[in-house]
Amino acid sequence: MSDCIFCKIRDGHIPARLVHRDDHCLAIEDINPQAPTHLLIIPLEHIPTMNDVTVEHRELVGHLHLTAAKLARQRGLADSGYRLVFNTRRDAGQTVFHIHLHLLGGRPMEWPPG
Ligand code: ADP
Repeated sequence: MSDCIFCKIRDGHIPARLVHRDDHCLAIEDINPQAPTHLLIIPLEHIPTMNDVTVEHRELVGHLHLTAAKLARQRGLADSGYRLVFNTRRDAGQTVFHIHLHLLGGRPMEWPPG
């Protein structure tokens, strides 16, 4: 079995609060939310970091963003706004090496991020 926590969630081996699933991705509630809405949009395919994304993945990466925007609309965040983030490797603090798009919203956020 894969050691990847998001592959285990995908395969139903560990529980998660699933809010969306389709043929290409799933979305879950983050276990340690940093905002009133904090979802992770996760491709079903195991891709370790954004460095591993190729031109073959362009539709998939677009789909992750469209899914995030749809979930944001469903949660009433379209007008107030939200943030979408892929953390990549050490300096960005990536801890789970299966790419995931953070959707954060429901409170004002600062820029630049810490
Ligand atoms: P960071 O941990 O610094 O935010 P990442 O961008 O790699 O780095 O994000 C991993 C995210 O996955 C974190 O927000 C963390 O809370 C979340 N997470 C880890 N394990 C689980 C889990 N079992 N269910 C839901 N979210 C999880």
